Amino acid sequence: MLKLIDIRKTYVVGDFEQHALDGISVSFRKSEFVAIVGPSGSGKTTTLNIIGGLDRYDSGDIIINGKSTKDFKDSEWDSYRNGSIGFVFQNYNLISHITVLDNVEMGMTLSGLPAKTRRKRAAEVLERVGLKDHMHKRPNQLSGGQMQRVAIARALANDPDIIMADEPTGALDSTTSIQIMELIREIAQDKLVILVTHNIEIANRYASRIIHMSDGKIVGDTNPYEPGSEEKDSFSLKKTAMSFRQALNLSFNNLKTKLGRALITAFAGSIGIIGVGLVLSLSNGLNQEIADLETGTLSDFPLSIRPTAYIMRTGQQMMGNFNEDTEGQFPTESLLYAVDQQANTIFHQNVIDQDYLDFLDGLDPALYNEIGYGRSVAMNLFTTSENDGAVMAVDTGDIGWGEIPGNAIFVENNYDVLAGAFPTAPTELLLVVDVYNNVDLRLLTAIGYDGDIETLAFEDIVGKEFRLVFNDDYYTYSELTTLYFPSLDYDALYADADTMTLSIVGIARATEDAASTVLGEGILYQKELTDIVLADASGSAIALAQAERATNVMTGVALTEQTRAAMLKYLGADAIPVSIQIYPVDFDAKNAVKDYLDTYNDGKLEVDQVIYTDLAETITDTVGTFVDTITYVLVAFSAISLVVSSIMIGIITYVSVLERTKEIGILRALGARKKDISRVFNAETFLIGLTAGLMGTIITWVLTFPINAILGNLLEEMSSIANFSIVAIVSLIAVSIVLTLFSGLVPSRIAARKDPVEALRTE
Ligand code: ADP
Ligand code: MG
Repeated sequence: MLKLIDIRKTYVVGDFEQHALDGISVSFRKSEFVAIVGPSGSGKTTTLNIIGGLDRYDSGDIIINGKSTKDFKDSEWDSYRNGSIGFVFQNYNLISHITVLDNVEMGMTLSGLPAKTRRKRAAEVLERVGLKDHMHKRPNQLSGGQMQRVAIARALANDPDIIMADEPTGALDSTTSIQIMELIREIAQDKLVILVTHNIEIANRYASRIIHMSDGKIVGDTNPYEPGSEEKDSFSLKKTAMSFRQALNLSFNNLKTKLGRALITAFAGSIGIIGVGLVLSLSNGLNQEIADLETGTLSDFPLSIRPTAYIMRTGQQMMGNFNEDTEGQFPTESLLYAVDQQANTIFHQNVIDQDYLDFLDGLDPALYNEIGYGRSVAMNLFTTSENDGAVMAVDTGDIGWGEIPGNAIFVENNYDVLAGAFPTAPTELLLVVDVYNNVDLRLLTAIGYDGDIETLAFEDIVGKEFRLVFNDDYYTYSELTTLYFPSLDYDALYADADTMTLSIVGIARATEDAASTVLGEGILYQKELTDIVLADASGSAIALAQAERATNVMTGVALTEQTRAAMLKYLGADAIPVSIQIYPVDFDAKNAVKDYLDTYNDGKLEVDQVIYTDLAETITDTVGTFVDTITYVLVAFSAISLVVSSIMIGIITYVSVLERTKEIGILRALGARKKDISRVFNAETFLIGLTAGLMGTIITWVLTFPINAILGNLLEEMSSIANFSIVAIVSLIAVSIVLTLFSGLVPSRIAARKDPVEALRTE
């Protein structure tokens, strides 16, 4: 059944050639007890290893059941070792970190038998060798004789055809040796046993055939066998394969035996994960906070169309004009560049006309709460000086006067009334102060207060009155000059019965957590007041006159198209607003409004376009970009620590490969494929990577609590900045596994390539 034909094997060490086997030709019976004896170095072990498929012959052939092994592939040798051969070694070669039972099961595990069958059979063979009570012990808890029994049980477990025993009693005392030999004889009655020994007594006592070797040759055979040529090719091999789960199990047990080191390794690997995790959770939380700000509070911000809009062109510096010659870069040459300021301005002049107003009429009313229009029509206002009671004109076009944006909810959400109440009628005015109750001194002097006052009681200003004089009462026509001039008799104007009396009814201040101080400080009036002024002014003599003339009706000076348009708006002849504020109902509506507004500009020349400003977006975009930039930098830094820890894990895995060389040899002898060996180490790095990922994410998660507590103290508005998302947790664990697996690839390939014979020989 087994036939060696002129087997030769030469080891080359340096430039010295050792002919370990020098033409061995021998045949074995299906069932016999063969002892190979001979001096040390005569080639006994080499013969066994070659027959067992652990080592390869240089030339010749081995015929197994009539089949030549010349063209055997690695996988076929692996299957052959696993299914047909049982090895028993002098130094037992048990895997020390798994139980006796697991050791015996290993060969069956490799051949893919189900767990139940494995367990049953292992228990049976262990009982047969008398170790039933020691199944759950580790090998190093047994005596030498017991360990050799385990090895015999392991060799028997897969019911092989051939048992190979290389000096199985070499390390045992004579009594134990006899017990072991009896056991081998008993279990191997129907098998081929090839025993290597230097003990001639044992050979004589147990063997049915003794082969003498010397210098790599067979020099004697007590019972030679010449098989008939009728033997057919009846050899079949079952594929061996270790599942990843079995590899995991093996590695898990191995890691358990050096738990401390495994945990420290995983912790080292987790440091990079912690770094990246913290950075990600911080930036995630910040961006979340910004998004909340935008969808929540900031969505109250209107989209505004102002007379001038700022437009950013690509490559443009914030502080300069775009210039094609320098492409927005700071110039390096000693040259001045002449630019067409008009054409290249970063400010865009929005011309709002009837067309645009009509366009706005088409905006879905469900999308906005309010549209506010800003107009520049002049109000002719007068008041009395707080000093001497003299009547004085108030310039509302200068500072601090403005319209309350139409969105009452927005105003009330963001402002506290300090005294009085919010205006409810067109004649009622609101004084808005800044967060420190400051009011611009120029505004106060403009409405009749002393230039050197320092404080003013709320009640002294609430109730202050103004008189609104209409155009026709204010301007007088001169037949002589055909010009209009304003009246200088303020007392008469103030006393006129046709005036409208306005008064300050309340003082308001932005709340502490106001999203915006959009009202601006100063004296504010309701939109309805503008409507009244506009309605009256549009029919006034001076406005009608200005509409007819190309010259200024008050000075007679010629007007340009632009200044004339401004004049018409000032006098109320043109009711078209100079600015528009749109208050969307919510964040999504705002985007819908923006999409609608964009359609107006489609296909229009740039000068004719109307460009809106989304203040909320401008703020959050800037902050968001800033946060992103910082995140990239920090992630890059932590990624370095990830790489460093991966390299470290690679090194530790390599050390583990060196430590487990013996185990690699044992697994290979039991029929493990190269692939299975790399699987064992990949399983180990997988476990370390998984542990590192879990540790890293748990530590990061725990750290977010003190970080949030500290940051929460520093920045009151932001309660939970560090926000470790599930996505980040899962991906970081995955990154950890992938990186450690990757770092272990090289060591695991080194392990897989180890020569099994050499691996077995290491201590
Ligand atoms: P035995 O088992 O009979 O003592 P071996 O089969 O182990 O002898 O060795 C046969 C010869 O081959 C010896 O001279 C030994 O030194 C040599 N040899 C065995 N293995 C190797 C090897 N891996 N490298 C170099 N020489 C080897
Ligand atoms: Mg030997």
